[in-house]
Amino acid sequence: MPRVVTFNYTLRDPGGRVLDTSAGGEPISYLEGAGQIIDGLDAELRSAAAGTKTRVTVPAAKAYGERDPAQMQKVKRTLLPVDGELNIGDQFQTGPDRFSPVVTVAAIEGDEVLLDANHPLAGVDLTFDVEIVSAREATAEEVSHGHAHGGGSGRGEGSCGSGCGCH
Ligand code: ZN
Repeated sequence: MPRVVTFNYTLRDPGGRVLDTSAGGEPISYLEGAGQIIDGLDAELRSAAAGTKTRVTVPAAKAYGERDPAQMQKVKRTLLPVDGELNIGDQFQTGPDRFSPVVTVAAIEGDEVLLDANHPLAGVDLTFDVEIVSAREATAEEVSHGHAHGGGSGRGEGSCGSGCGCH
């Protein structure tokens, strides 16, 4: 049976810049092997017990992938859903829902814009400072849903109906 692991983390790029952190918020819970966190981190934490503090560096290929030059595309500026000023580094979603791919403006050349559809963290080796808050065996329901329910400190009862959106 996989585990449900709850952890705090701070994510940094190779230059030490903080990209994301759970500090000041809730720790993250995930079901092992279910794709809820990036594979490379999931694999490294498989044997980590509650209380473990560790640093895990996940190479780009096992995180958000290498950068793909084919994901760079020139489009007419008039085709973009942007009113007003456009700047290099601007990001916007290519569709209406929050899982739509995000593209980044890489260059502006006259009335053409070079868009980069690579994930913003593609090609970036990621370093996680992790503290395991708790780890418990997953429930059968969690395994069948493919995600964690109700955090890591309880016994797995709970939050699926109200929050997890799996129904
Ligand atoms: Zn569920």
